[in-house]
Amino acid sequence: EPGATVKDLGDALEVPPTRIIQVLMGLGEMKTLTQTLSIEEIELIAEELGVKVEIGAVEEPAPEEVLPDDDPADLEEKPPVVTVMGHVDHGKTSLLDRIRHENVQSGEAGGITQHIGAYQVESDGRKVTFIDTPGHEAFTEMRARGAKVTDVVVLVVAADDGIMPQTQEAIEHAQAAGVPMVVALNKIDVPNANQDRVLGELSERGLMPEAYGGETVTVPVSAKTGEGIDELLENILVVAELEDLKANPHAPASGYVVEGERDPGRGPVATLLLSRGTLNKGDVVLAGTAYGRVRAMLDYTGKRVKDAGPGTPVEILGLSGVPEAGTRFEVVDHERLARDRAQQAEEKLRRQELAQGGSRRSLEDLLGE
Ligand code: GDP
Ligand code: MG
Repeated sequence: EPGATVKDLGDALEVPPTRIIQVLMGLGEMKTLTQTLSIEEIELIAEELGVKVEIGAVEEPAPEEVLPDDDPADLEEKPPVVTVMGHVDHGKTSLLDRIRHENVQSGEAGGITQHIGAYQVESDGRKVTFIDTPGHEAFTEMRARGAKVTDVVVLVVAADDGIMPQTQEAIEHAQAAGVPMVVALNKIDVPNANQDRVLGELSERGLMPEAYGGETVTVPVSAKTGEGIDELLENILVVAELEDLKANPHAPASGYVVEGERDPGRGPVATLLLSRGTLNKGDVVLAGTAYGRVRAMLDYTGKRVKDAGPGTPVEILGLSGVPEAGTRFEVVDHERLARDRAQQAEEKLRRQELAQGGSRRSLEDLLGE
């Protein structure tokens, strides 16, 4: 219920309100019976009391790019974002490397050997953005915020291994997000590869392959030999064409963190994927507990760029810390505001950790009896 008070929550959970006030005090907060609780507080209290609450009506407001009030006149075409997902070791990274090497632009040839989680290729004069799965958790996180972070999912299934738990998870994520899938049957060069078995497994999961009269596009490939890679790319583009690939580049920039790391020389480095707006060098970015002015911005080839629009991945330097993959980022007007909000996020995190520590203790108490 929106605007639930301490008393409301006590009634709903069938615990004395004094117990709730006690828990709040344990979290360092003072509240009276009639004061309203934030969603965060309700979650923390429920966690502390060991009950599960379903927060339906009071879900966090949808992020702006979900229901953007963009004037249709402001919408412009953006590159399709293609996310590669699948079970570990089925060849996601190898496949991305292969696609990239077969489609390198002359200027960047030989330049890039390091692993990058996001890059672009140009096909028929159109750019396509590829993202290596930023971990299933990160993807879930992004999706939980209601964002359509990817336009197409490439589901990589090793033909010698078939559908495994993370393949299943990826299928569920893509289906829940309503994102079209192209299945890459990888490792067809391996002697015990069995494409038919994988096609059978797919149809059992409601993904009827075209070969069986269904609509699921499956492409046999080998990241090792390069076989089928062109066809895979063609199919991805066909599927992407059917999607609505427009965004407003004139809005304040926002999007998601694809990956983050601390570089010994450059400090915190984050790869961002722009969903909306244009990010400029010098902008102040807030990404969860990390914030800062963009000191330098690099495209996927490592070249410095001054701005980046929707559907584009960029690496940025200048953040105060390393943001987690899946974190939403946005540009804010003032560094000071960004700092305050990063601090608030930090405090929230600490409180959650505290609450978790608290419930662990009580669990131990329980087990000790
Ligand atoms: P990821 O965990 O899904 O990113 O998988 P990787 O791309 O790291 O690949 C896992 C292993 O499978 C590596 O040893 C790759 O060399 C190998 N591999 C990937 N694709 C193929 C392929 O098409 N054929 C063969 N024979 N090996 C492959
Ligand atoms: Mg990988």
